[in-house]
Amino acid sequence: MAIFYSPKYNNHQKNDHIENKSRTDAIITKFSKIGIFNKISLLEPESCDISDILAVHSSSHIHFIQDFCKKGGGYLDLDTYASSQSYHTALLSAGGAIAASKSIMNGEKWSYSISRPPGHHATAHKSMGFCIFNNVAIALKYLIRNYGLHKICIIDFDVHYGNGTAEIFYNDPNILYISIHQDPKTLFPGKGFIEEQGSGKGEGYNINIPMPIGSNNTDYIWILKEILEPVLKEFRPQVLFVEAGFDAHVNDPLSGINVNEYFYAWISQYLIEKNINIISLLEGGYNLEALSNSNLSFIVGLEPALISDNNDSDNYSQSNQKTSETFHINKNEIKYKSKEEIERYYLEKFMVSPDVKQSSYLIKDIFSPFFKF
Ligand SMILES: [Zn+2]
Repeated sequence: MAIFYSPKYNNHQKNDHIENKSRTDAIITKFSKIGIFNKISLLEPESCDISDILAVHSSSHIHFIQDFCKKGGGYLDLDTYASSQSYHTALLSAGGAIAASKSIMNGEKWSYSISRPPGHHATAHKSMGFCIFNNVAIALKYLIRNYGLHKICIIDFDVHYGNGTAEIFYNDPNILYISIHQDPKTLFPGKGFIEEQGSGKGEGYNINIPMPIGSNNTDYIWILKEILEPVLKEFRPQVLFVEAGFDAHVNDPLSGINVNEYFYAWISQYLIEKNINIISLLEGGYNLEALSNSNLSFIVGLEPALISDNNDSDNYSQSNQKTSETFHINKNEIKYKSKEEIERYYLEKFMVSPDVKQSSYLIKDIFSPFFKF
């Protein structure tokens, strides 16, 4: 296990923008307070090479961003800013993704790059949706070029569809992209419908799971189990990237999805139990308390031992008791439970929309991509 972060990410900053340095500050502060870094090293990545970026983005786009920042920066579109330091910070953010990927190749079971700016909306030719360069695509291509990997899965649970990542690998049958997100009829970027399944040889390797507004833990867990179980078994990826956005949280200001901290512990625990090495990269999440609590849940799901010792776990419980109004996280509710127990727990606790199976999303539509396998 390894966590990568650099304080220099704070150089990509605009105080009045919702995607700002207080996000990563909140996560790192939370982890420090709980004592996570007594058990796991916080490693500082280096910038990536331009050649790493060129494997994904056009040179005209890279030079455009470089010049734009050199001239002082501003808004790249209505909602994506770049400050004078953003070009170099974006190289460092992608460097964090590469460092996290390398650590997996060196034997770590999981790694997490807590980096900014985020990446999953950035296309090969365009920065958008708070993203400058596409971190996951850059790291993934790095693994292909340097380690000869050829079968990789990306799971994106950010509340927004990762249109950039999907587009970059849309024709590629070796990269399976699975995204669960809020119904794109009701949220940026207006893409990510079920019928967008990839094209050419990549047809069937882009699986979109749009969720209705109001979906909660039960809905998310049910549908993900239904889909991930057969797909991961069939595709058998060599490594798994997670585009870890935490803006589906009920308290997030940008979305209408109602999952809470538990979902993030569940998904990471579920994936790590598949015995696939996992590289996670931070994407969205804009309520600082929800973001930091959800991040803690996420890494505890990956590594329950992080809170297994007396002192730290006491801090963990106390801290979350104080800070999480929506839900008190008790380590015993995450740890020492089989998946069946957890599921039962969820069903009892969150029996809010038991009929997700009969929702507007027809099961056959949801499953149609799998028939390609
Ligand atoms: Zn998002």
